[in-house]
Formats: sequence, C-alpha cells, structure tokens
Amino acid sequence: MALIVKKFGGTSVGSIERIRDVAKQVLLDKHNGDQVVVVVSAMAGETNRLVGLSKDIMSMPEGREYDVLVSTGEQVTIALLALALQDVAAPAISLLAHQVKILTDSAHSKARIKMIDDSRIRQELSAGNIVVVPGFQGIDENNNVTTLGRGGSDTTAVALAAALQADVCQIFTDVDGVFTTDPNLVSGAKKIERISYEEMLEMASTGAKVLQIRSVELAAKYKVPLEVRSSFHNQPGTLVVQEDANMESQLVTGISFDRNEAKIAVREVPDVPGIASKVFAPISEANINVDMIVQNISLEGKTDLTFTVTHADLEKALSIVKQVAQEIGAKHVETSEDVAKVSVIGLGMRSHAGIASKMFQTLAKENINVQMISTSEIKISIIINDKYTELAVRALHEAFELDKK
Ligand code: ADP
Ligand code: ASP
Ligand code: MG
Repeated sequence: MALIVKKFGGTSVGSIERIRDVAKQVLLDKHNGDQVVVVVSAMAGETNRLVGLSKDIMSMPEGREYDVLVSTGEQVTIALLALALQDVAAPAISLLAHQVKILTDSAHSKARIKMIDDSRIRQELSAGNIVVVPGFQGIDENNNVTTLGRGGSDTTAVALAAALQADVCQIFTDVDGVFTTDPNLVSGAKKIERISYEEMLEMASTGAKVLQIRSVELAAKYKVPLEVRSSFHNQPGTLVVQEDANMESQLVTGISFDRNEAKIAVREVPDVPGIASKVFAPISEANINVDMIVQNISLEGKTDLTFTVTHADLEKALSIVKQVAQEIGAKHVETSEDVAKVSVIGLGMRSHAGIASKMFQTLAKENINVQMISTSEIKISIIINDKYTELAVRALHEAFELDKK
C-alpha cells in the first residue's frame, strides 16, 4: 500500500465535469489499495477573479484581508471534489488549512510553510477516507489565514508529501510534463523525461510556472519523488529527481522566460561604500524580492544601479527607491515595465564552455539587444525588451537543438 499525494491545478478542476474526472482518477488509486491525499487549486480563473475584486477596491489591498479573500477559491474546490468522490461512493473528507494545521509565517500573500501537523490527515486516512486539502492556503500562529503566493498549491502538495513521507507526489496539470520550454509558446518544445531538482529549480525561478519555485526547493530538500503529468490522459510525465551521471552530457536542458519583471534604474548614484545597502536594505525590509542587479562602471565618482522586481512589487519598490535616491543624492530614478527575462538552463554548463557565446550570437543574429545579464553555475539569464521574448525563445530553442531531442 502506497501513500500518494496528488495535486490538481486550476484547469484540471475547471468545471464540474473535470472535477468528476478527477474523482474517477482518484478512485482508481483507492481501488489499488493506496492511501490518497488530494490537493486542489481553485477552479481556473477564479483566483484571478478574486484578486481583481480586491483591486477594484484599492490598488494595494491590505495583506490579511487579501488572503482571506483569495484563499476562498480553494475552499470551493475541496468541497466540490469531496462531494464528487462521495457521489461515486468513495469515502472522502475535505479539510481546510486550519483544520489540518498547515502552519506558515505571517508574510501575507507570500507566506512560507513552517510546519504541517500530520495527525488529523493520518487519522482520516486510517479511517479509510480520501483526504482533500486546499492548495495555496495556510494559517499563521495567530490563526490568521495566509496564502503561499501564486501557484502555491504545488508547494502545499510537496510539503504535505514531505510531512507524510509519501511515496510520490504527483502534480497533474494541463500539459504533459515539464518541457524544454513552454509548449504553449513553442509548439516544437519537447517533453523532458527526467530533470534534476537543480535544473527544475532554475527553470521555476526563471519563469517556468509549471511548478512553483518553493515546491521544487522543498522537494529537493526532503527528497520527495516528484512527477509532473497531464490530468487529461494517463501517459507518463516528467520525473523530477536527483542528478545522475548522464544528465551533465546534455548542454542545455531548457529555456524559460518571465514577462513579469520590471526594471528600476537609479541614475548617477555616488560611487561610495555602503550605497548598495542603503538602496536594497529597505526594499528587503518591505519583503520585496530583487532579482537581477547590475552596477555600471563608475564615471567621475558616479554610477548607475539597475535592478529588477516583479510587476506586482514595482509600485511599492519605486516609492522606497525614490526616497532613498533623494537621501543619497542620486540624479533620478527610471523604470520600465516592457522588459522580459529569458534564461538558458543546463547542468552541462558546468563542464562545457561556449554556451554564453552561442546564446549572444543567436540573439545578435535576431537583432535583439541585451540589457542586463546574470549567470549561475547552470544558468544564463538576460533582460531584453519584452516585444522580443517569443522571437528570442524560439531562436534559442532552435540554436540549442532542443526541438530535436
Ligand atoms: P496549474 O493550474 O495546473 O498549476 P499552471 O498554469 O500553473 O498549471 O502551469 C502549467 C503551465 O506552465 C502550462 O500550461 C505551460 O503554459 C506553463 N509552462 C511554462 N514553462 C513550461 C515548461 N517548461 N514546461 C511545461 N509547462 C510550462
Ligand atoms: N489558486 C492559486 C493561484 O491561482 C494557487 C494555485 O493555483 O496554485 O495562484
Ligand atoms: Mg500552477
């Protein structure tokens, strides 16, 4: 008897018909004698609708009430799925995050799971129930509802699988697995059979939203066997696993892109020690993640400091940076929202040279200007004008022969 955590994303529970299909799939595991915990997202489009409602009231909704609102989409789907299971004579119970006790910190809208109490779930499983849990939501130590950031249901599923020491965590979604790039952008993208945690982490953190970053971090940390597969048919998907000897031979594994970045440039900053910390400390205190940072060579004691944040954080970051810029005597602050980040990822970069030069040649051939560059051991990311995103991804996908895998 195995213990399986299965997560179904928004499209997979997007209608009553789809929810009935999910119930039938889950029932098969139950008939196999397995114990099943199901994590569900809100129905497709529902979380966006709720976010929209809050923005109709104010441009930056207050965190606590925002979470009370946006977490409700998942409450609807757990109840519907539990009913659909009961309708096919499968014993099932839904449990909200506070009933399980999925304890998080108090960073509303981007909370992190601190602990999961597995006792109630184990009790229900022992009683023969299929347990249905909402993704995305948690509870902090003062019993406030929290949410884990967009796409956070993946993280709920992996965290539950780790807490329960499940045999596998299956992420069912609207594509067949993890692809060499977003198959909805590049039709020639190929499904990857096995990908290392490390590469998946880089893919997720550079925009491949098929898995939320934090879910991959947790899977790697607790060695949760993770599988991404389609909820529409029963074909094998992608296994996210520990690196093995063959993986480095592949130069580039995937290409990802993120159109959700915005660039902030602080012009003519005095080039003296401590300036970067004056700019970035208050941004980090405001819980804003800074992604790429570039500082130009200084000219006459002045330099430009450029960095990126998400669109959602731009307004807040800008109001902080404008104030700091005045304090440190910078000339002015500029922003641009029409930028995108494109990243090339592969374990093979550790041992093979020439990937950066091929990437830049490919972009040059397409006349795409590179605005910023950052690298890690297995990744090269660039910032370009957003209007070239599709062109850049397609050209790189072809240049690295990912369509021929
Ligand atoms: P769910 O609602 O099931 O959580 P998401 O929309 O969050 O689904 O994630 C699945 C989507 O991720 C796909 O529809 C696809 O457009 C996108 N995606 C981006 N990059 C990739 C990739 N490299 N492989 C697979 N899917 C990707
Ligand atoms: N419903 C949430 C969202 O749309 C969480 C998730 O789907 O993973 O972001
Ligand atoms: Mg998702």
